Amino acid sequence: MIASQLTPNVRLLLGPGPSDAHPRVLTAMTTPLLGHLDPQFLEIMNETQVMLREVYGTANRLTFPISATGMAGMEACFVNLLEPGDSVVVCAKGFFGNRMIDIAERTGARVIALQQKWGEAFDLNRIFEVLKRERPKALGIVSAETSTGVSQSLEGLGDLCRELGTLLIVDCVTSLGCTPLKLDELGIDAAFSCSQKGLGCPPGLSPMSFSDRAVAALKARKTKVQSWYLDMTAIESYWGGDRSYHHTAPISMIYALREGLRIVLEEGLAARWERHRRNHLALKAGLEAIGLNYIAAPECRLPQLNAVHIPAGVEDIPNRKRMLTDFGIEIGGGLGDFKGKAWRIGLMGYNSKPSSVFQVLAALEMVLRGAGVKVEPGSGIGAAELAYG
Ligand SMILES: *Cc1c(COP(=O)(O)O)cnc(C)c1O
Repeated sequence: MIASQLTPNVRLLLGPGPSDAHPRVLTAMTTPLLGHLDPQFLEIMNETQVMLREVYGTANRLTFPISATGMAGMEACFVNLLEPGDSVVVCAKGFFGNRMIDIAERTGARVIALQQKWGEAFDLNRIFEVLKRERPKALGIVSAETSTGVSQSLEGLGDLCRELGTLLIVDCVTSLGCTPLKLDELGIDAAFSCSQKGLGCPPGLSPMSFSDRAVAALKARKTKVQSWYLDMTAIESYWGGDRSYHHTAPISMIYALREGLRIVLEEGLAARWERHRRNHLALKAGLEAIGLNYIAAPECRLPQLNAVHIPAGVEDIPNRKRMLTDFGIEIGGGLGDFKGKAWRIGLMGYNSKPSSVFQVLAALEMVLRGAGVKVEPGSGIGAAELAYG
């Protein structure tokens, strides 16, 4: 059997990821392969690292993408920084926080799991108290909880962690490239992200950064990291050290990330964050005008991930399917506790733009009307227009 020629439909990817890659990124990926030890490729790696440090707001030497998706970045943080017998506090307020707990437990460390109601952010004072009492080796927390659309403040967490000798591990998968994030200012010791959300690239890489404190913890390990592939010390010998072979770098993905980072820095971080905020406010005005209400409270909403309640009496799957087949727009359903109860609309990276806002609102108006909801034609896009001013 020979499958037919590949002709995927053009979609507008407005779910929780992947979001559309920037056309310049896709072009970069079609340029010729270099060997992973070619001097020209080594220079491309250097440039990628320099730009990644800038985008992450860090001077950390150990800053590079690992060859896998965001989940591998999460796993890498925990397996490298924890050994059996260590203790770790993990803060979960949604699906990805729960995954952090699962991964932390597999390291053999003692896990103190804090749960917050889905849709809410943690009050930092609660975390501060537990940290002071437990003095754990590490603390894990998600900055942008994609399952609920909740943004978590990290203000003061880095300072307290430093005081107590605790390593601060932060999931930056949905924040990097979308919302304000500066690792060094926040005192973050281990960060991981992905290529396919705020950075406008395809999925496949997890940009990582470890502080000097995290590197010291790596060096002080008594046992080998149980994952050979994710052993940061070994990967670092390719990215930062003597350039010795560890695994074959995914050359085209590094090209993609290099181009994605160039685009982020050309726009400027502050301008990019402001763009995400502006498009979110227009989308929010439109969603509320057509009766779709946010799960997260106003003070902790993510601009890049708009999670709303599905109105009573409206089915989840058939209507999301209609968004896809009739309008070519992908939006996300709910995860875990929110399965069948939430829609998640991402405006991430390249896709955070007025045309995405207007397309998704117009389609939702029609889909909701088709589902029997009373929606005035044009009310959503009208509200968004007014919000843009
Ligand atoms: C998407 C996501 C991940 C997982 O990333 P993958 O690239 O899908 O492996 C982890 N954490 C959060 C908060 C995410 O949104």
